[in-house]
Amino acid sequence: KKITIAIDGFSSTGKSTIAKQLAKQLGYVYVDSGAMYRAVTLYAMQNNFIGETYFKVETLIEQLPTIDISFVFNEALGFAEVYLNGINVEKNIRTLEVSGFVSKVAAVPEVRKQLVDQQRKIGENKGVVMDGRDIGTVVFPNADLKLFVTASAGTRAERRYKELIERGDRVDYNAVLKNVQERDYMDSNRKDSPLVKAKDAIEIDNSNMSVEEQFEIISDLVNK
Ligand code: C5P
Repeated sequence: KKITIAIDGFSSTGKSTIAKQLAKQLGYVYVDSGAMYRAVTLYAMQNNFIGETYFKVETLIEQLPTIDISFVFNEALGFAEVYLNGINVEKNIRTLEVSGFVSKVAAVPEVRKQLVDQQRKIGENKGVVMDGRDIGTVVFPNADLKLFVTASAGTRAERRYKELIERGDRVDYNAVLKNVQERDYMDSNRKDSPLVKAKDAIEIDNSNMSVEEQFEIISDLVNK
């Protein structure tokens, strides 16, 4: 029997690494819900709806029906990449610049409504592993397994910094740490669907765990 697995937690806890691996092993669909919020943010940036000193939120809301976000499975990578209005934006949504605006965009209730509706549709047939901030609380409150992943802010910033450097972005560690902390704060304190641990979620602090160790714990939970 196929189940629904919700993985939530703060920024850069390695949720997606776990979720991808789990989906692959189970033959499930992996959905990176953060990628959807990042794609809407990229759209807002490209159209000058958001910048350092402004956020034309009404205009973004008006344009929401024209924003098409989809996932296309990439055989070579082994996971689905995100497309914005037909264009692969998998790489463009991961910049520190997008990370700097995404929590503002994700705080807009109309944006959340559109994406949550789409996420529920994708998960309709079960056999899905979705990661994000509100998957176990809002998107799939009846998920069969809920995980809440945590790690210290320093550990998370180091991981994100390494990722950005590896892909060739020139970033400063302190800027990455600041972004991780700011997003944690904004995501936890917004009015609509703030980041909280679902009552029935199992918390995993992976500050001092290898990917293999985590995976072993999680595989046991799935097989229970
Ligand atoms: O998971 P990732 O760090 O890529 O998510 C980027 C941002 O998208 C988060 O900081 C949060 O503001 C937003 N997000 C959200 N709800 C989700 C997933 C992501 O608000 N389910």
